[in-house]
Amino acid sequence: MGTETSPGGPGLLIIGASQAGVALATSLRALGHDGAITLLGDEDHRPYQRPALSKEFLQDKVGKESLIFRTAEYWAEHRIRVVQGERIVRIDKRPDGSGIAFARSGEVFTFDRLALTVGARARRLGIPGADLPGVLALRQADDALELKARVPLVEDVVVIGGGFIGLEAAASLATLGKRVTVLEAGPHLVGRAVGTPTSEKLLQHHLRHGVEVLLNATAARIVGEGDRVVGVELAGSASRAGRVVRADLVLVGVGVLPNTELAEQLGLAVDDGIVVDERAVCSDGVTVAVGDCANLPNPVPGSQPGDRVRLESVNNAVEQAKVAAYAITGRDGEYAGIPWFWSNQGSLKLQIAGLSRGYDRVVVREGEGTRWSALYYRDGRLVAADCIDHPLDFMAVKAALAQGGRIDPDAAADATRSLKQLTRLPVSA
Ligand code: NAP
Repeated sequence: MGTETSPGGPGLLIIGASQAGVALATSLRALGHDGAITLLGDEDHRPYQRPALSKEFLQDKVGKESLIFRTAEYWAEHRIRVVQGERIVRIDKRPDGSGIAFARSGEVFTFDRLALTVGARARRLGIPGADLPGVLALRQADDALELKARVPLVEDVVVIGGGFIGLEAAASLATLGKRVTVLEAGPHLVGRAVGTPTSEKLLQHHLRHGVEVLLNATAARIVGEGDRVVGVELAGSASRAGRVVRADLVLVGVGVLPNTELAEQLGLAVDDGIVVDERAVCSDGVTVAVGDCANLPNPVPGSQPGDRVRLESVNNAVEQAKVAAYAITGRDGEYAGIPWFWSNQGSLKLQIAGLSRGYDRVVVREGEGTRWSALYYRDGRLVAADCIDHPLDFMAVKAALAQGGRIDPDAAADATRSLKQLTRLPVSA
């Protein structure tokens, strides 16, 4: 559709002022888009970056101010109206994409065009005791502030969920001198995002740093005394069932759920996220959706038609926002790219290029010191790599995937050989 918002009109309303919303607003101005932009969020904080919440911020290595995306001067200078602390509960939208959004406070926001960058929320545990004070999630700044306030008062922490949030926070809490136990429901740590050899490396790393990790472990209930958490009772196999792991703090990191309620209310297609096309445009042909909330065609070049993904990463929020900005300003641009992720867990730096799902061969490269990588192949083609403390392998694989290059798996098994030099680009590249 690509209609510029009408001059002098209410312009674009971006609902959600985190990474994706901020990236969309700033990308539009970078493209010279002149229309009015309102960037609206429901938190009482200026738009801030989340990645440090489980790491440097939790460990008091950086303060709140350093997480703020842009100064008030930047927003003013670029005529981006930033609205904090307003939660949109209902939207009336006309077929041309314009409409009115109603906030819980009674405020109304009119728009010529709508962008949903509403993100995802932490999944909650539906077990007894999950509502006790001292059972926390870690998604937003307020969660991190509450966690930080409690940390000096506790000794034993149980982390439920051995995914990115759980492991990053576990490493931070162990560094702060806490006794930490991670309960992971599946057989592998970060099982959804990395391959099995990488899960094993992560497990060894955390065990070495004094974190206890229980795999195939779920909680039956959080045990409280009065309104105080004292432990987590394990569910599961006979040998574990009923065992109580001591805890005066429980951190729950069991994944996220995309915030799709507004999209559903608008009648937009929703299927594990808000369904968008390669241009980040929703099923109504005009609204855009970007970031953790969006379900998009797999952007990896050469993906099967109909293959869709929801990518929970900073990189995706930024790249998809650029494409949405193209769509809003009427330019051509389709999202194609190599998803990448990073996760710092204590001293370990994990970088992931591509999506390893469906792999049928793994090549492990044991480099010097702590350098290590696992390359994942499907039908003889490289599809992803997990790299630990190995930025050179990460960059080489990311570049190879982006350019349709090949890296021979047998040659790659020799860790002394440079992946960059082993990359064979297609003739046309
Ligand atoms: P996540 O990475 O999806 O991991 C959740 C983990 O919890 C999975 O391993 C899951 O196992 C496990 N789990 C689910 N239910 C459980 C239960 N009842 N008991 C014990 N374990 C259970 O999600 P997250 O760690 O909560 O992170 C939240 C979001 O923040 C994600 O979008 C993540 O990508 C993002 N994030 C990203 C980074 C990064 O990129 N560096 C860092 C922090 C957070 P199964 O897979 O077996 O279900």
